[in-house]
Order: sequence, then structure tokens, then C-alpha cells
Amino acid sequence: MAAALPPGSTIGILGGGQLGRMLALAAAELGFKCHIYCPDQESPAFDVAAERTVADYADEAALSDFAARVDVVTYEFENIDVRAIELLQENVPVRPASLPLAVSQDRLSEKEFLRDLGIGTAQFAPVEDAESLRLALAAIGTPSILKTRRFGYDGKGQAVLKSATAPELALEAVGHAPAILEAFVPFAREISVVAVRAPDGDFAHYEAAENVHRNGILHTSTVPAAVHPGTAAEAGRIARTIVEELDYVGVIGIEFFVLGEGEGERLLVNEFAPRVHNSGHWTQDACAVSQFENHIRAIAGWPLGPTSRHSDATMTNIIGVEAHHWLQLAAEPGARLHLYGKREARPGRKMGHVNRVARPKGA
Ligand code: AMP
Repeated sequence: MAAALPPGSTIGILGGGQLGRMLALAAAELGFKCHIYCPDQESPAFDVAAERTVADYADEAALSDFAARVDVVTYEFENIDVRAIELLQENVPVRPASLPLAVSQDRLSEKEFLRDLGIGTAQFAPVEDAESLRLALAAIGTPSILKTRRFGYDGKGQAVLKSATAPELALEAVGHAPAILEAFVPFAREISVVAVRAPDGDFAHYEAAENVHRNGILHTSTVPAAVHPGTAAEAGRIARTIVEELDYVGVIGIEFFVLGEGEGERLLVNEFAPRVHNSGHWTQDACAVSQFENHIRAIAGWPLGPTSRHSDATMTNIIGVEAHHWLQLAAEPGARLHLYGKREARPGRKMGHVNRVARPKGA
């Protein structure tokens, strides 16, 4: 087993959003310090971390200074230039490494990677211009979704194509950026699996959660998911295949579409994120060891913690002005409130989440 980082070591985190904040909180519980690197002066993670660097991800001098001051580096969001990771990797271990980031931040390479592993995805085709969109539409048809290859999140950089949609409008909607056309999947439900892998290959995953999106943003994640046990087990096997192929270290979030019902269910992977995942926030209050702690354990070379669940749970995101109801939510029995310390409740902004936990039925 790789040498374990002792308590008192410093974990460097690229990105200062809520995921960085919750990683830093979990790290503190194990005796680590965190150093957050983020270009935004007002990053939610700064409030709970020992050290900060406010600099651009392309600032090589700031990156090498950061590398010299931390014992391991991780990242909490995937729109970081792979060059920054490669530069850091020369001086300090970066976990997960640059490969999972490179594969997952481009929707085309992500889909090709999954296809090469024999893992089902929506039918897809690359689109660069009007001609390639015409060819893609001839192969895939409508309804379909045009998605930018890079820098899309929470439904941004996407356009739905119906039979009457003028292809030119869809290209405009994604800013004529390199894109992929994806067949619209008539899914019965959406699930995700949060999995974790240690440097020595030890693997564990949390139970599949069922996700509901609103306006392209995750609304709720619920465990148990209403899927056949065989489907849930298959999702875990797919997660393992992906992380082993990437020689992955840390927590990963994998989103699936479920087609059909009961024994006839079939899984397609929508996408994966090389980081802790919003659909895994329920693990904070329904498991002995959360996804955040397990990510810190994995990147620090510690033994993985248990991923089993002691409670049923529904995680609900608190978006924009919903955060004004904090007092009501704090008073609700059985609800655990997590707020991110963001000052401005802009529309669509993730301000916090609430985990509603209950004893499992029949327990
Ligand atoms: P994404 O940004 O790819 O995670 O998409 C956000 C959400 O949009 C997904 O969780 C689905 O609810 C929906 N969506 C994305 N791609 C498809 C698809 N090919 N077919 C149907 N729904 C989709």
C-alpha cells in the first residue's frame, strides 16, 4: 500500500465551491489542513480552510508555489485545464490524476471511452458545423440534444432538437462550439453511483441513488432508488470497470439513465464526474462515512471507510432564493441542513442542500 499521509499533512484542493468546502470540512475531521486554490476571491471553501491561493488556473508561478506547500492535490470541479494538473503532477501527487479529467471534460472522448469499454450510452455523433450536424441528424434523428463537448454543466450549453427545429438555431444556441449530438433517451428514471478507489486498487461504492432534475439542475437524490436489485448491482459493476480502466484514485460520480422497468431494466451511462458528486450528498447523513471523507481517505492513502447506508434519505438541493427559508428548514424534524455560505442567492445557484433521513422501512 502507498504510504499514508499522516494527520497534520496539507491537502491542496483546486476549486473553492461547495464541494471544496465540504471536502475541507471532512479533511479537518481527520486532522488534515486544506489549502484551497481558486481564482474567485469569494469562494465558499475559503471560510473553512487553513490556507488559500487566489490565482488563475493558468498561473504557472502560483501553481508551483501551491505544489510546494501541499502534500497531495485533488480537484473539486472538472473545468480545469489539464495542463495545470500535468504541471502540478511534476512536483506533487495529484489524485485523481490528469487522465480521468481529460476524458471526462470532453463529452466526445467520454462517450468514446465508454463505448470502447462496451458500456452503453445514448447514440452520439460529433458535430463541428452545419454539415456534420446534418450527417448526425441523418444518423440519430429527433428528438435529440446538441451538447457542447466542453464546459457544459447543469444543462448549460445544450439545445434540444425536435423535428421542427431549424438545425442552425441549435448551432447558435451552443455558440457554434464543438459539440456532440445525442439521441434523446426515453428513460424511466435516472440513477447515479458514487464510487471510491484507493491507490492500492481497493474499491467500494455507495448504493445507487435515484435522481430527479429540474431545469437541467439536480433537484433530489433518493435512496433507496426504485430499481431492480440487479440493475443497482450492474451500476456498481460499471462503476468498477470505469475506475479500474482509469487507474482512478478518489471518489467518482457516475450518472445513468434507466430504460424499462423491473427485470427488463437496462442502463446507459449519461456521464461521469471525476470528483465528489452532488447526487452523493445524502451520504453525509445516511452513512457512517460520507463521500467527502472517503475521497480524503482515498487520496491520502488511508483505508477506505464503509459505504453502507444506515438510513433512507432524500437530498434536496436549495437553489437561489429557496435559501431564504433557512430558519424553517433548520426547524424541520429529521432534516439536516447544509448551507454553503454563499452571499448572493442568484437564480439557479446552488446555495445548500437538505438531507431528510428516516429509519429504513421494516427496520
Ligand atoms: P447532462 O448535463 O448531460 O448531465 O444533462 C442534464 C440532464 O438533462 C440529465 O440528467 C437528463 O435529465 C437530461 N438529459 C441529458 N441528456 C439526455 C439525453 N440524451 N436524453 C434524455 N435526457 C437527457
